[in-house]
Formats: sequence, C-alpha cells, structure tokens
Amino acid sequence: MVKTSRDHEESLNVNYRNASKSKLKETHKDILPSVNWHITKKCNFNCKYCFARFNDLEGILPKEVALKIPKQLKNLGVEKLNIAGGEPLLYPHLMDVLKESKKCGLTVTMISNGSLLNENNIKEMSPYLDWIGISLDSCDEEIQYQLGRGSLDHLSNVIKKTQLIKKYGMGLKINTVVTKLNMNEDMTQLIHKIGPDRWKVFQVMEREGENQNSVKPLLITSEEFQHYCNENDMVLENDTRPKFESNELMRESYLMLGPQGKFFHSSNGPIEYIDTDPLDLASSIDNVPFDDEAFTKRGGFYRWNLGETHMENNCRDSQNLVISEEI
Ligand code: SF4
Repeated sequence: MVKTSRDHEESLNVNYRNASKSKLKETHKDILPSVNWHITKKCNFNCKYCFARFNDLEGILPKEVALKIPKQLKNLGVEKLNIAGGEPLLYPHLMDVLKESKKCGLTVTMISNGSLLNENNIKEMSPYLDWIGISLDSCDEEIQYQLGRGSLDHLSNVIKKTQLIKKYGMGLKINTVVTKLNMNEDMTQLIHKIGPDRWKVFQVMEREGENQNSVKPLLITSEEFQHYCNENDMVLENDTRPKFESNELMRESYLMLGPQGKFFHSSNGPIEYIDTDPLDLASSIDNVPFDDEAFTKRGGFYRWNLGETHMENNCRDSQNLVISEEI
C-alpha cells in the first residue's frame, strides 16, 4: 500500500509517543509530556461558553513563584508547556515566564484570544514561543459577537494576527469551539485561506461553577458535533487534518495547572484543585487524574517542535497568503 504524508505523520507520532513515554518512565511513569498552564484568570473577553473563569480565585501568581514552575515541569519530564488563560497577555510577568520556559528547554506554546497581540509583542515573544494558537469560532462577525468575542471585529483582527504569527516564524494553531450558533457552518474555506499548521475543534462544554449559567443555550449533542466534524474535515496545507475533540475525548486528557500554580482537574464536574505547592510540583503529580490513552486518542502528540523548524527556516513567506479582509 502506498504511504501518504498523513500515514507518515501518524507513524512519526507513534514513534514520538513511544520515545517520549520511555523517557518519561525515567522521571515519572504517568506524566504526560504536555502541560496546559492557565497562567491568569483575567480576560478582556466574556465568552459565554468560557470554562476557565476560575471564579473562586483572587490575585495573581507572584513572579518569583511563576519563574520556578518551568524548570520543575522540565525536571518532571514535561516537553511542551502551553500557556493559556484567561488571556495570557494580561499576566504581567508573561515575557519572563516565556524566557524562562525556553531557557529550560521546553517547547513553548500559547493560546490567546488574539485581541491584544500586535506586531511589537509578537516580534518580542517570537524567540521564546514555538506556537501561538488563536481562538476563532466563526466566519461571521455577528456570531463571534454573540458568543462574547470582540466588538464585531474579532474575525478581521484574527486574520491580521495570524499573518504576523507566520511572518515571525511561529507555528500557528486555530482553536474553534462548536456551539448551537455555529454548528452548521462550513469553516473550511476560511481555514484554507488562513493556512494554520493545526486546527483544533472542540465541542462546547459545560463546567459546573464556571459557565453553567451562560452556556446552556449553546450546548450541542454529540450527533450535532459529529455533523460539524463531517462537514469540516479537510486536509491542511501541511497535509494534516483538523483535530476534533468531543467532550468525551477531552475528559482527563489534559494535564492542567491553574493560575495559582496548582494542578487541577474537572473529572467530577466542577474544578477541583489538587493540594499542590507550586514550588514542589513533583509531590502532587501522582494525585492528578488523567488518561494518557485519551491524550493520544485526541491527537495530543504531534510535531510540536515545528515552530523551531519554522524559526530555523527564518520568516515564512507571508506573501503567499492571499487573505482578504472580507472573509
Ligand atoms: S477569550 Fe478565552 S479565557 Fe477569555 S472569556 Fe473567552 S474563552 Fe474565556
């Protein structure tokens, strides 16, 4: 049978996974090589489905504590640190954390709503960030607005920022949440035009204590989500396909650190923090529930050092992007 590039990607993933797992065995037998750190609860958007509000937390993690986290994760065997929020750009010590994380040898990625990104900060962060992911749910500004994203300018802003991310040589990811408002959309043309390296598509999720008051009218069934997946399956520029994550697939497949530097999970509904000392993460990692099979199943392993490859190749040719403001 002729092997396609996709087969090649899958086999790379399997090899990579096996290599990662055996390396991890020397450090911690269960830990996944990727951690999502919700570095702040602050956000300038108010998405109705947001399940990372951390309503019960106050204050921010002091810089001296935050800077001790990347090295600890690296020592535990973590390879990739994904900085999320809230909106990470609202964490005042973000640049220091990015620099420290890169210095420790981590692959560093960040998820942003995109609104605060500009050419200056993208350029400043680019030596320390391998990937930037931006949230984009719809081709329709009105739907973005109804979801709580931006002031009828989210789509046009995101398009501009994605071009800058490419210009400065980082991997580009688009995150899309499928809700009642956008479940019948075909995003494939827009995604083709933007040309991300990775497209992640999530089924909207209810999380008790975080969003249950606002998310209910947006919830969709697994059949509705599957319909969206079928309609939006496509081959990206790099010959990979979108990663579709149902509520079921997301369950226990992320290793998550909260804004106060404590591991947390939501296996039983609401967020539960593990009794963690942010200066001693190793002592609590055994108590964090996660399912490494689910991590693999949701496509958690991928060539995340792609960003470094981009940097080696210097800036990508953004001239090839023909993106009109109207899409
Ligand atoms: S941009 Fe992200 S963190 Fe902010 S409200 Fe929306 S989903 Fe939540």
